[in-house]
Amino acid sequence: MEKEGLVRRLADEKFNGESPTWREARFDQVRVLCAEDDENWYMLYTSAPLIIVQEKAMKNPPTCYECGGPVDYVARRLSVHFKEFTDMGVPAGGGEVRTKRIPYCPNCNTKPSGHEVISESVEESLRR
Ligand SMILES: [Zn+2]
Repeated sequence: MEKEGLVRRLADEKFNGESPTWREARFDQVRVLCAEDDENWYMLYTSAPLIIVQEKAMKNPPTCYECGGPVDYVARRLSVHFKEFTDMGVPAGGGEVRTKRIPYCPNCNTKPSGHEVISESVEESLRR
């Protein structure tokens, strides 16, 4: 399902047809938009058509809103390249690799790539 359709379905089923209030949040180091009702948090991912439901009682692991199935994760390795070099066409960095857990639904989403290159300046890298 497209992201717009998912958001509309959530509004219809859980928020009486009203658009919920989405707040920016982080879930497992990933930026999400978060809405809530009395029972659940709903995490909308910006990278994939995925809404994860986490019940506030925390009795069960998070599930996919679209199919109700369990959520899986890809450990994505981020290679950090220095912007100063990539600007010159040279993919070089300090050899740093960070790992980020990317959630996805095995039923509804294609499995995300396990590798991503990000670029930051030497100064940004040192400041971190
Ligand atoms: Zn699903």
